[in-house]
Amino acid sequence: MLCLKGFQGYGYDEDFTRNMIDVNSKRKLKDTTVLLTKSPDDICKYCPNLKNDLCEDKLQNEKIISMDEEVLKKFDISKEYNSQELFEKIDNIFDTKESVSKICFNCMWHEKCLFYQNLSNNR
Ligand code: SF4
Repeated sequence: MLCLKGFQGYGYDEDFTRNMIDVNSKRKLKDTTVLLTKSPDDICKYCPNLKNDLCEDKLQNEKIISMDEEVLKKFDISKEYNSQELFEKIDNIFDTKESVSKICFNCMWHEKCLFYQNLSNNR
């Protein structure tokens, strides 16, 4: 979710990037609903690094899962969210670099990510 907010066209390959553009457009529509998941999602499914439901390898997969958990623990994953409302909540919860330190700090994209770059350290 956070990564969609920071997306500015970079991706692992053409299919991944095309799908990111598609998902990122749909999440902005008024009637889009979102189900949160701990498993590979609609974005991961187009990632060339996803193999046998693992992100790259066991170690990398664990790293991604712990990043996901930092986000998911703020939400009820049994619930279906309206996408616009969900992203408003995200804006309110993750509003400083400190609030995403456990999520974004080790991400290879953080220098290109608009979401991360736009966050302020002041609170
Ligand atoms: S810095 Fe990385 S993990 Fe954080 S929102 Fe951006 S792409 Fe996602």
